[in-house]
Amino acid sequence: MVLMNYYPRRWQSADKPQIAAYAYGNDYHHIVKSKLSQLAEEINKVAPHSYAVFCDSAPVMERAWAVRAGLGWIGRNGMLVNPKLGTFTFIGTLITTLELEPSKPMENHCGTCKKCIEACPMGLEPYLLNKLAKAGRMDDLEANKVYDCIECGCCQFTCPSYIYLLDSIRLAKANVMKIMRSRPKK
Ligand code: SF4
Ligand code: SF4
Repeated sequence: MVLMNYYPRRWQSADKPQIAAYAYGNDYHHIVKSKLSQLAEEINKVAPHSYAVFCDSAPVMERAWAVRAGLGWIGRNGMLVNPKLGTFTFIGTLITTLELEPSKPMENHCGTCKKCIEACPMGLEPYLLNKLAKAGRMDDLEANKVYDCIECGCCQFTCPSYIYLLDSIRLAKANVMKIMRSRPKK
């Protein structure tokens, strides 16, 4: 399982019609699958294997498998939360015939936090609704609410993991600036 950060470099201007950040740019299904195929071919050079790659393109339990692979936990906002990348990630799956050492699953670190639920303008509790839907335990009102999500992203921006992501970006930028400044001038 792999993650690819899709946090955009630039956001749409606020006075224009808004689309969700994951839909910016080229179709992520093709991008992630193409990168995974490259990775699989590189592995093939040192350890021949048969493989298949997916990204939101097959009935694969991506989020659950990503948790088992130690890449994050499923937060109350219903997203995979990675402590460094936040929730702005695509999940890629590479299924291989190679036998690999399994990673340790990541524990859920939401704790008592409910920032994402408090921030949702539609009053949704995505994780709870998803759980109820899967268990077939929803009345009509709850079932309709699943489709009320307007993809505004408030439940992602308010997640503390987003703050960590911003810190990581700031740190990475500061490091690049430091390297640039330390290079001898021509
Ligand atoms: S994207 Fe917006 S509307 Fe959808 S669950 Fe998150 S906060 Fe609520
Ligand atoms: S905002 Fe809080 S409760 Fe929601 S996913 Fe993030 S850590 Fe979990």
